Amino acid sequence: MEAIKHTIVIGAGQAGLAAGYYLRQAGRDFLLLDANDRIGDNWRNRWDGLRLFSPQRYNHLPGLAPAGGDWHLPDRHEMADYLENYARHFTLPVHLQCTCVRAQKTPAGHWTIETTDGTFRAHNLVVATGAYRTPWKPSAIADSFPAEIPQYHSSGIKDVATIAGPDTDVLVIGAGASGRQLSHLLLETGAGVTLAGPGVANLPRNFLSKDIYWWLYKSGMMTLRTDRFPGKVMIQKGAGDVTVGEPELPAAIRRIKTEIVRYHAGTLRCKCRKTAPKPVLWPAAGKQGVIVWCTGYRNAYPWLPAEMLDEVQTPLLASGQSTVYPEVSFIGLPNLLRPNSSLVGGVGEDARLLVGRGTRL
Ligand SMILES: Cc1cc2nc3c(=O)[nH]c(=O)nc-3n(C[C@H](O)[C@H](O)[C@H](O)COP(=O)(O)OP(=O)(O)OC[C@H]3O[C@@H](n4cnc5c(N)ncnc54)[C@H](O)[C@@H]3O)c2cc1C
Repeated sequence: MEAIKHTIVIGAGQAGLAAGYYLRQAGRDFLLLDANDRIGDNWRNRWDGLRLFSPQRYNHLPGLAPAGGDWHLPDRHEMADYLENYARHFTLPVHLQCTCVRAQKTPAGHWTIETTDGTFRAHNLVVATGAYRTPWKPSAIADSFPAEIPQYHSSGIKDVATIAGPDTDVLVIGAGASGRQLSHLLLETGAGVTLAGPGVANLPRNFLSKDIYWWLYKSGMMTLRTDRFPGKVMIQKGAGDVTVGEPELPAAIRRIKTEIVRYHAGTLRCKCRKTAPKPVLWPAAGKQGVIVWCTGYRNAYPWLPAEMLDEVQTPLLASGQSTVYPEVSFIGLPNLLRPNSSLVGGVGEDARLLVGRGTRL
């Protein structure tokens, strides 16, 4: 059997690769395991036409800048290729096509990681399996739509032209970055588009002739520690509930700025705080209704010991470290250490802190 590694990183997306970079710098004996066929596949598998909302100046992992100018917004292929090139450049040891199915601590004190390609052992674990993996939609509302209306989650869409066209009326539910981007692309197919969901503020791309990200980083808002005051308070107050730099919605996209609570007899019932819920007719007469859920993701770690997670599968953490097993760290989760912890430009700094913290990592 192979010797016990110092650290095994599960997941070789941007978060796992950033951890790998600092583990290499620290001279550790480590290995990254990933379920995908190729590094970067997570980006490759997202929808055609996707562009990052963050410009290249803020899209770099430690030690290697991405190609393109500072303010270029890369597409999913550029991002995927950057990650693949990153692993090659630093010769990071990545074992691909290797899905972790169970990780458990042995009585001897180390961890065994059972995978679809053998069992591995390590003293420390870094969980870098991504925060945007297990699609979620409110099932009670989804179930109120009749079976003849097809429903898709944003994570399952590759080419919008395969689900929409001039004969369809698409209801996009969830008005965050994915909902807004997909609404634009769906409109280009000739479909009718309604975007529903509480109004998330959208900061303009440019402000006083600078990219909005320049301001967000310059003001320190993106890098404020979220495990300390005042960053903790900022996050609790929901300051992250904005989209940043998304193009304005054209008037042709119908906007419902509240939550849909139910569908009944050709009408959408929408939540309304002050008045009785207003029924909205949908789909338009003679059009095929199609639903696209852009309602985000939930945690799922079926392969980790249950005692590390709360009742909704959120890992029990203090500053990125498991409070149950301190030799297990998590990386890439939203607001983990900073508001940009789940973004490509923020995960490197978290990796530096976690690996260099003087823990057993
Ligand atoms: C639509 C969309 C647009 C986004 N746009 C931006 C943007 O513009 N700018 C930005 O900075 N961020 C953006 N993000 C957020 C974030 O940067 C990405 O989600 C990014 O992919 C997260 O990287 P990660 O390494 O944390 O996780 P992932 O990219 O999800 O990588 C996790 C890796 O873990 C592997 N894995 C998972 N489970 C297992 C297992 N059990 N065993 C082995 N391997 C496993 C997967 O194969 C995968 O390679 C966007 C996210 C989405 C969903």
